[in-house]
Amino acid sequence: MEKELINFIRNKFSTEEFIPLHAPTFIGNEKKYLENCIDSTFVSSVGEYVSLFEEKLSAITQTKKSVAVVNGTSALQVGLRLVGVRTGDEVITQALTFVATANAIAYNNAHPIFLDVDINTMGLSPDAVSIFLEEYGDLRNDGFCYNKKTGRRISACMPMHTFGFPVHLDELIFVCNKWRIPIVEDAAESLGSEYKGKPTGGFGEVSAISFNGNKIITCGGGGALVTNSVTLGEKAKFLTTTAKVPHLYEYVHNELGYNFRMPNLNAALACAQLENLNYFLENKRELAKNYQEFFQSKGIFFRAETENTKANYWLMCVELNDKKERDLFLKNTNSSGVMTRPIWQLMFRLPMYKDCYKDEQVNALFLEERIVNVPSSVR
Ligand SMILES: *Cc1c(COP(=O)(O)O)cnc(C)c1O
Repeated sequence: MEKELINFIRNKFSTEEFIPLHAPTFIGNEKKYLENCIDSTFVSSVGEYVSLFEEKLSAITQTKKSVAVVNGTSALQVGLRLVGVRTGDEVITQALTFVATANAIAYNNAHPIFLDVDINTMGLSPDAVSIFLEEYGDLRNDGFCYNKKTGRRISACMPMHTFGFPVHLDELIFVCNKWRIPIVEDAAESLGSEYKGKPTGGFGEVSAISFNGNKIITCGGGGALVTNSVTLGEKAKFLTTTAKVPHLYEYVHNELGYNFRMPNLNAALACAQLENLNYFLENKRELAKNYQEFFQSKGIFFRAETENTKANYWLMCVELNDKKERDLFLKNTNSSGVMTRPIWQLMFRLPMYKDCYKDEQVNALFLEERIVNVPSSVR
């Protein structure tokens, strides 16, 4: 099967060379905007491409405010702080995720609570969250939810849309509202994905998106916070630009801020990339369709978008029957110059998160042994 697959992929990407998992595509105004940016001399923390990019991104995600930052991880870190996560709190997330999700929690000196994912979406399971909160949740008079066992406040829930497949947002929002826990969406991978006709990123109090080199749209390195709360949006801008209070000439900083602002040079690239997002989405959808037909004919489960959602097909993947099959698949493809990768190791396996709370992880353990990403670039 792998031989046929390798031929199929080489044919799709029209090359006999090495095929990466996800390479960026520059076919639009990238050079023009970069040149404009350099000619203007505003390449750094001031310049018009940053606000232009933020406006475009808000239009695409249908959110009231976007704030461009240096990467997706910093967006997550600040997002948690914006919804009120403080030292010693707990934050609910999934164990099946990229390490940045958990790191953003740790950067806020909070404790991750690793819950299971849904078997269909591969993202945080609303049932797992509900079961956890029914057992440990304690809604106190101060309006916050506490963990009965540890006594710590549970101050946020951070679902992640794995590979661009949206989580069950309605159900998750219902559970989190019940327990008065704000949601910070890790939409790092899901720009262009939709849940019930609405773009991901617009469901959380705040959400984080990444524009790293391997994401669907890149600006070299970069990220953004998006939100429907103008107050939180303004606070995000303030905190990510050193918390500087406007003054004619004095340097006034009234709380601990960050230098997380996206440079204008990166924003120029991002503006050009965003112009092609729809084309990228269609192009990837076509490849996903081709993969699905191919794998179906081989009796292999290619993961397609789930009910009520539209996936951006950022990274496409198959589910193999067991770990042995998976390892063989990885070995044969990678040794033939076709890059494939297993899904991430579960977060509680990493030394810094080994003592964190985790539930039974039935689905995450199943997926960890079986999911493999296949080359997914725009062609
Ligand atoms: C890429 C990614 C991030 C981090 O984005 P960077 O821009 O690389 O910092 C965070 N979470 C998830 C799930 C990601 O895939």
